[in-house]
Amino acid sequence: MVKICCIGAGYVGGPTMAVIALKCPAIEVVVVDISEQRIAGWNSKRLPIYEPGLDDVVRQCRGRNLFFSTEVHRHVGDADIVFVSVNTPTKTCGLGAGKAADLTYWESAARMIADVSRSDKIVVEKSTVPVKTAEAIEKILVHNGRGVRYQILSNPEFLAEGTAIQDLFAPDRVLIGGRETPEGRAAVKALKDVYAQWVPDERIITTNLWSAELSKLAANAFLAQRISSVNAISALCEATGADVTQVAHSVGKDARIGPRFLSASVGFGGSCFQKDILNLVYICECYGLPEVAGYWREVIRINDYQKSRFVNRVVSSMFNTVAGKKVAVLGFAFKKDTGDTRETPAIDVCKGLLGDKAVVSIYDPQVTGEQVSRDLAMNKFDWDHPRHLQPLSDTDLAKQVGMAADAYEAARDAHAVCILTEWDEFRSLDYKRMFDAMHKPAFIFDGRNVVDVAKLREIGFVVYSIGKPLDD
Ligand code: NAD
Repeated sequence: MVKICCIGAGYVGGPTMAVIALKCPAIEVVVVDISEQRIAGWNSKRLPIYEPGLDDVVRQCRGRNLFFSTEVHRHVGDADIVFVSVNTPTKTCGLGAGKAADLTYWESAARMIADVSRSDKIVVEKSTVPVKTAEAIEKILVHNGRGVRYQILSNPEFLAEGTAIQDLFAPDRVLIGGRETPEGRAAVKALKDVYAQWVPDERIITTNLWSAELSKLAANAFLAQRISSVNAISALCEATGADVTQVAHSVGKDARIGPRFLSASVGFGGSCFQKDILNLVYICECYGLPEVAGYWREVIRINDYQKSRFVNRVVSSMFNTVAGKKVAVLGFAFKKDTGDTRETPAIDVCKGLLGDKAVVSIYDPQVTGEQVSRDLAMNKFDWDHPRHLQPLSDTDLAKQVGMAADAYEAARDAHAVCILTEWDEFRSLDYKRMFDAMHKPAFIFDGRNVVDVAKLREIGFVVYSIGKPLDD
């Protein structure tokens, strides 16, 4: 029986391995992590991450051929294929501070693999890593191993949170990069055989190592660029009376452009887009390509601009101050159908409002008060001063931020509602009930274009919706 071990039981490692275990009953899959809490969660009824369909997949194969464990050394040592799916955040200090990928976790995983391996292994980069990382990993493994032979493959993950299971069941493509040697080709084939259990052959792409590593960074950069493009147009729509939904629809009808990923919003978030573009920019600078670095950097600038534009709109509409005013924030996760708040635009928007002394009441169906406190207390990347901005103090947090049990509680006695995540339930709220419980004039700032602007104006709200014609 082929044995797979995955190092890192996070948003990628957990769901990816659960689907491999489900689709390949003849393979034993063990997911290991240094976090006891995470592993305990994976072994419990309440999984540590929220993802539609995940519970069902885990229930079907946990204990059969899917296991979660903190015994990292034992399971890595036993495996034929070791996936590494550890976090690769952005560096916060040192050379290239604030832009380079922090490969500390990767390096320590590689050193550990070298320490515990007694048999030949295929090591798979599942994490998103800078192009040429495999070269560094090979050196660490070879210099520290005991005659064990390794083949490194790049197999970046393209799942999107919120639709991870769907994406893993029917991926647009599976990408596998390897060395162009007989051993490299054999390793690529071994991994391809795993995916071939359920992914059609034409969707499995094989490339050289560097193309696979770079493709993941490029794909995320293109996706983020698309959002920044439509968001840049949304600002122009507001200035001219055009409607961004109509413009995006017309633009997306061009078969060369396509309709997907063209929704204007308060900005993109999530753990990947910003960090991967920062990383791409850093790599371009390292290779002496400042013009290319500058091109990608603008994608993040527009994203930051979109968030600050939103906050400015809220404050200026509310007679230039939100001090002491209650603002209901509906949605804190970076997108619907996930509880993930990493780099969510809600952090910057809330910080902006809190900076002007608003009192913020937050409701999100999947986000806890602890997550919000942690996020608002964290440093933020600042492009122009690539250290990190000051976090909010605990005292300010306690005084100004509260969690609400539902949207109605958040809106009670509020002056304004800000919609920051496109949760489906926000489309069908009883807005009349909310309006009746709010101070007047009652404002709605829709950062996700989920509300029916005309209906809310009829109720009496002053409505601002991204990229839509403004109230008179
Ligand atoms: P995550 O933080 O949720 O999970 C990473 C896990 O690795 C953590 O649980 C951590 O405890 C564990 N870990 C770190 N070092 C370890 C070690 N030495 N031994 C054992 N466990 C260790 O991160 P994630 O969101 O799953 O992302 C993982 C990688 O996949 C990142 O490189 C990310 O860029 C990439 N990626 C993420 C997504 C996404 O949507 N989240 C999508 C595609 C790719």
